[in-house]
Amino acid sequence: MPGVNMIVCCKQVPDPEAPPSVFKVDPASNRMTVPPDIKPVIGQYEEFALEAALKIKDKTGGKIVTLSLGNNLVRDVIKKTLAVGSDELVLLEDEAFEGGDSWSTAYALATAIKKIGEYDFIFCGRQSSDWDAGQVGLGIAEILEVPAVTLARKVEVSDGKAKIERVVPDGYEVVEVAFPVLITVTSEVGALRYAALKGIMAAAKKQPTIWKPGDIGLEPAQVGAAGRRTKLNKLFQPVKEARCEMIEGETPAEAGANLAVKLRQAKIL
Ligand SMILES: Cc1cc2nc3c(=O)[nH]c(=O)nc-3n(C[C@H](O)[C@H](O)[C@H](O)COP(=O)(O)OP(=O)(O)OC[C@H]3O[C@@H](n4cnc5c(N)ncnc54)[C@H](O)[C@@H]3O)c2cc1C
Repeated sequence: MPGVNMIVCCKQVPDPEAPPSVFKVDPASNRMTVPPDIKPVIGQYEEFALEAALKIKDKTGGKIVTLSLGNNLVRDVIKKTLAVGSDELVLLEDEAFEGGDSWSTAYALATAIKKIGEYDFIFCGRQSSDWDAGQVGLGIAEILEVPAVTLARKVEVSDGKAKIERVVPDGYEVVEVAFPVLITVTSEVGALRYAALKGIMAAAKKQPTIWKPGDIGLEPAQVGAAGRRTKLNKLFQPVKEARCEMIEGETPAEAGANLAVKLRQAKIL
């Protein structure tokens, strides 16, 4: 098969290495706030997905289009996809895309994929690194009516079909599927390669294609928060309370006896 067309869906997320304590929930808007010094990155599973596509490009040849949905996407972050070997970058970028759920995200991405047109593979991460819903990839497959294979650890092109090793609890299984196919990728694929200087310089000169809802034939009311099918009732951080009581006693033996009484009163002994 002479080269395949691949689309990789990459989400820009707040750096998951940031300490959890810096993320705050605004109860009034039910939204999470991220301090400005926490820099965004490409989600780790999307990096694995991109590496899976690059490995195929190395072996079989082909074209990779990276697709990302969001608002105010940081160019230096998302252009990393071009620097490592993606051929094109398409951004669904508009404030109307903000606040979506799995459905509205999948619907917009699937509609953009239809506009891109030619695809043999669509790659997604097995889940995003921020909200972990693990639904967008399968939503895209459902909307486009293409088969989906989840949890891929290795993907190859063999006899004009996709040959996929997918992770199962006690090992892996091998499946073959005709194109086009959507694949969600796990960490076992391996880390995304480093960008070479040549790639970084070439990426700096490339401009992404930017589509707003109207460019993919959608109304703002069909995307982002307005297009949600789920309602977020409450977003909160669980409050963990711990009390420490020092059990006193004149001697260690008396302190031990007092502790035993306390434990019995608490019905632990
Ligand atoms: C409790 C809760 C509260 C939330 N609150 C908010 C909120 O206040 N505001 C808000 O904006 N969102 C919020 N979200 C997030 C929003 O609902 C998710 O972004 C959406 O449901 C998609 O799910 P996910 O990001 O977990 O993606 P997953 O389904 O886990 O993603 C799987 C794969 O799909 C692809 N993908 C997903 N999103 C994108 C993207 N944007 N661009 C390109 N590829 C993508 C990637 O390949 C990714 O690896 C909240 C989610 C939860 C669970």
